[in-house]
Amino acid sequence: MKIFTIFAVIFACAHGLGEDCNGSWGSCQDYQNCHTGSTITGQCAGPWNIQCCPKVGQSCKSNTGNCMLTSHCSGTTYAGYCPGPSNVKCCTGGSSGGCPLTKYTGSKIIGSTCTVEVGFVPQMDKINSWASSCNVQVYITSSYRANADVSGAIVQPASRSNHMIGHAIDMNVVDGATGVFCNSNCLRSLSTAPSGVKCFINKVQADSVLRWGMSFNDPVHIDEPININYPSRWDQLYWATQGACVSK
Ligand SMILES: [Zn+2]
Repeated sequence: MKIFTIFAVIFACAHGLGEDCNGSWGSCQDYQNCHTGSTITGQCAGPWNIQCCPKVGQSCKSNTGNCMLTSHCSGTTYAGYCPGPSNVKCCTGGSSGGCPLTKYTGSKIIGSTCTVEVGFVPQMDKINSWASSCNVQVYITSSYRANADVSGAIVQPASRSNHMIGHAIDMNVVDGATGVFCNSNCLRSLSTAPSGVKCFINKVQADSVLRWGMSFNDPVHIDEPININYPSRWDQLYWATQGACVSK
């Protein structure tokens, strides 16, 4: 009898908050936290508000492409290849199967791979041209970062970082005239930094779109503050990249 009780408890706990839904269609979440479209009821244990949030971004069954919201697919959608509700379909073609991220290359951009959302490319072009005119190189240390969620479930992140939508870079600056590698301490003390570095950062600060992270004590950070100025656009870009670029 005791054994039956234990089994019953284990069974009741399965498909609870944060776990896979019954049928692995997604993860069980408070329906208010599900931003991937309609939720599926009856697939999660627990109170009524814990519902199955369909997993998008996984590979389609027996087809190329990714499962995503049809509204986020810039290519062609196919029914029958993805679990979940009717607004999650297999997306093929379009921009990389709907993934809006691209690897940016520029003559003055060095260091780690620079992955940004396609809408940020014009800003990167400006950064590259300023680096050229100031005779510096921009050494990338970080760019796009998917929400590093350990469970693999798609959840609303705790805060909106512009790295998570591909509209931010972390960088050091290499001064062409002196060869000085200007890291975060060097950037923080901008008044004593090499003149090429000052020239470059001044252009970032003077720009009407871009923001230098020094204003929030992060001197290696440059972004387009979509999280502050256009939060709904941030949400849209976040779910578009999560849905189409992040493999599950
Ligand atoms: Zn940053």
